[in-house]
Amino acid sequence: DITHLPSTQYVNTKSTLDSEDKDHLLHRSFIDPPSLVERAEGVNLFLSDGRKIIDACAGAAVALIGHGNKEVHQAIVNQLQKVSYVHTQSYTTQPAEDLANLILQGSPHGLEKAFFVGSGSEAVESALKLARQYYFEKNEPERLHIISRRQGYHGNTMATMTISGNLGRKVPFEGFSYPHTSQVSPAFAYRYMQEDETEMEYTPRLLREIEDEFLCVGPHKVMAFIAEPVAGSGIGSATPPAGYLAGLRALCDKYGVLLIFDEIMCGVGRTGTFFAFEQEGNAVPDIMTIAKGLGGGYAPISGVLVHKRVVDVLRHGSKAFNHGHTYQAHPTSCAAALAVQKIILRDGLIARCAAMGKILESMLRTELRDCWSVGDIRGRGLFWTVEFVKDKKTKETFDPRIHFGARVQQAAFDEGVALYPCSGTVDGKRGDHVMLAPPFIITEEELSTVCKVLREAIESQQ
Ligand code: PLP
Repeated sequence: DITHLPSTQYVNTKSTLDSEDKDHLLHRSFIDPPSLVERAEGVNLFLSDGRKIIDACAGAAVALIGHGNKEVHQAIVNQLQKVSYVHTQSYTTQPAEDLANLILQGSPHGLEKAFFVGSGSEAVESALKLARQYYFEKNEPERLHIISRRQGYHGNTMATMTISGNLGRKVPFEGFSYPHTSQVSPAFAYRYMQEDETEMEYTPRLLREIEDEFLCVGPHKVMAFIAEPVAGSGIGSATPPAGYLAGLRALCDKYGVLLIFDEIMCGVGRTGTFFAFEQEGNAVPDIMTIAKGLGGGYAPISGVLVHKRVVDVLRHGSKAFNHGHTYQAHPTSCAAALAVQKIILRDGLIARCAAMGKILESMLRTELRDCWSVGDIRGRGLFWTVEFVKDKKTKETFDPRIHFGARVQQAAFDEGVALYPCSGTVDGKRGDHVMLAPPFIITEEELSTVCKVLREAIESQQ
């Protein structure tokens, strides 16, 4: 029984072991075997038992242009026919160069270099090592401390798990962590903005707490502040209060701390602009990470994007980034991502995401208006979260043993709609939410089906 855990990604709705568990593949849960997918096309997954599922969360906010795109398939095949792998120590390939150039054409916001790896965790880990090397070369070796936010999520490797806030993922790994970290409050108005507080008061309160943390650690020891501009899986698509990201930028400038934005989930158009931070004034990070929508799921790929001021220190210092992976800038992944990004540009999919996002918001607000357990509906672009509470007024969470969110998710799945698993933490306990992050090609009719199924799934819990 894992229900005592404050929060976990492994939400088992069943309680007995599957006696038929003979698979050699280690699945996430020993109790709930995953569904076997035979084929996927557009927004739909086709399961081996004949069922069709609308992928209303694009996997994990990944399949941004939908599944089964033949142009991407062809780009992958073309690349494989040319070169499937070379080591980046000695070689580069055209798709890697072209992908970096496409994303950073004209150095948007001063972001000048891209470094491609395989997963989100690797990208964040690389960003942290880059930040460390930056200070090492600037002769500020005492800067080792990373400040992140409770309920943030930055990955599952040792360092990235340490700076993440999802308590359930950490339980077995106490002591297995990067030592120089601390956490401050998330920017999460629904839960933590006080009743008698305005947004104009909430933002400075959050920023004061961060400045206090800088001062408490010793500003000369702080290496980086890391945050998701629009929070992802830990809280569920929570947008920051007005002025928060700009305030973060100003604080980091004041104390010479690097600002890292983790846009692995919210970037690449998911919130309606290529970078999520673009909707928050002039808060440009020093280093940022992107991943899921970059390759759209056609191949594993993530990116670290680096501002010129960081690049310059290495360029004029050691003249190398002392970090690398065997599969860095993998040609097939870069070719897939390049094809995905070209499709997004050609078909105006980010503008479509913004427009469809408005439709989804209005459908959610209408459809779920009378659901007693829906405490909050929040998000931006095609990135929306529905949070469930036992009591709308007090915002009291359900007993974690009820698995309310997981049950809604399962009920929706049974009716043919896949939602993103809920794994949030509220005040140290597991909170309940489901996330919607469909492919940008989803139609209004499909969104309407998704919202109706979600309402029925919620109502079936009463
Ligand atoms: N950072 C954020 C914001 C994420 O949402 C995720 C994954 O969900 C990660 C990092 C880790 O990425 P990965 O699972 O590819 O290692």
